[in-house]
Amino acid sequence: MLLKGAASLAGNLATASRTVSRAGALRQQKRFLSLHEYRSAAILKEYGVPIPDGDAATTPEEAEKVAQKLGKDDMVIKAQVLAGGRGKGTFDNGLKGGVKLITSPVEAKIYAEQMLGHKLITKQTGAAGKLCTAVYVVEREFVRREAYLAILLDRTTRGPVIVASSQGGMDIETVAKETPDAIFSTPVDIHTGVTDEIALKVAQALGFSNAATQEAADTVKKLYKVFQEKDATQVEINPLSETVDRRVLAMDAKLGFDDNASFRQPEVWSWRDTTQEDADEIEAAKYGLNFIKLDGNIGCLVNGAGLAMATMDIIKLYGGEPANFLDCGGGATAEAIRQAFGILLREPKVTAIFVNIFGGIVRCDNIAKGLIATTQEMNITVPIVARLQGTNVEEAQRLISNSGLKIFSFTDLDEAAQKVCQLSKVVSLAREIDVNVSFELPL
Ligand code: GDP
Ligand code: MN
Repeated sequence: MLLKGAASLAGNLATASRTVSRAGALRQQKRFLSLHEYRSAAILKEYGVPIPDGDAATTPEEAEKVAQKLGKDDMVIKAQVLAGGRGKGTFDNGLKGGVKLITSPVEAKIYAEQMLGHKLITKQTGAAGKLCTAVYVVEREFVRREAYLAILLDRTTRGPVIVASSQGGMDIETVAKETPDAIFSTPVDIHTGVTDEIALKVAQALGFSNAATQEAADTVKKLYKVFQEKDATQVEINPLSETVDRRVLAMDAKLGFDDNASFRQPEVWSWRDTTQEDADEIEAAKYGLNFIKLDGNIGCLVNGAGLAMATMDIIKLYGGEPANFLDCGGGATAEAIRQAFGILLREPKVTAIFVNIFGGIVRCDNIAKGLIATTQEMNITVPIVARLQGTNVEEAQRLISNSGLKIFSFTDLDEAAQKVCQLSKVVSLAREIDVNVSFELPL
């Protein structure tokens, strides 16, 4: 995945806009489906993009069989995890490298044993790493050049952009940072697509020999076809290689797809691997909650993405840090609130909960009832600040204040945000010195 450095240097690339800042580190938002390399490679093959021969395996024995079937003296076994930087990653059992050169089927089996069921930690996975659920065994190719090629969606030009560099391989982020001139980028007009002229320019930027340039240009066109027809948001090939016998080969593939197009791409979506995603975020999606974890400690429950953004902004303004982005959508029902609280409270770092709901379609009194029921049912020890506004807000206020529960209720967003930030700080401080705090509301 092309990271922040490359994105800003190669023009305002889409990657930057698709990331959510989590305490400085940029991580890709989950709303774009990513596929494993072997799945992506299968798509490329379908479009005539040259890829190395190979197959995936989920057991060591299967890996051995795949290698036997390939019948090559030189092969590569590659851990399938949804993150970049596998080559330079380390497994939780100490094995170094998620991409290993091998020379026999037995070796495929031995490495598969050490990879499968273990977590690979790379600079893109964070310390927790990602579980390796499959390995991809491919023939080893002998290359004379490794280039970088990506097609992304770009906010600035509101369309696809092709990014190419002759300096491909494992460290494109460093290339982007230190030698931005080595990265070529060109927007694509969706009406005309990739013309011969664009394809050739991109091919030249890859720095292949003359003998391979035409095939590279054809490959660029094919990759664009994949991008367009599969509703991709990212097609990244690193490395796109030139072999010693002057062939062009896509030796790695990281494809991302637009969630909004999932209904048009049932096959692509059938390949989703949820073991690579956050369990709580998947659980939330089951209840129609749009949930993204962040690094702070104020749990937020909001209706509407716009209000959720505004809520995060105002929390930051008053010195707080949101623990999550949770949009329960238009139908903020009592059940949705219960589920949302369950998810928020599973996170031990949460020191306060901020409910910020605008009652437009939903009525505030119904929200209040849901909130009261949930608070009574769950043993909640962190302070809750509720800012309800809209239809039947007076009745909602009355219900909350008569409930006898420790819910700090506001109609004004500013006051509510200040309060939740203060409360969260108090709880954080108390936890640091190991004291319990309980909150009494003035009656
Ligand atoms: P990534 O680290 O997650 O991007 O994984 P890659 O699939 O790109 O593999 C890492 C690196 O291994 C590549 O950049 C190549 O340099 C190298 N590599 C993988 N397969 C082969 C191969 O068949 N031949 C050669 N020469 N290098 C390979
Ligand atoms: Mn790669």
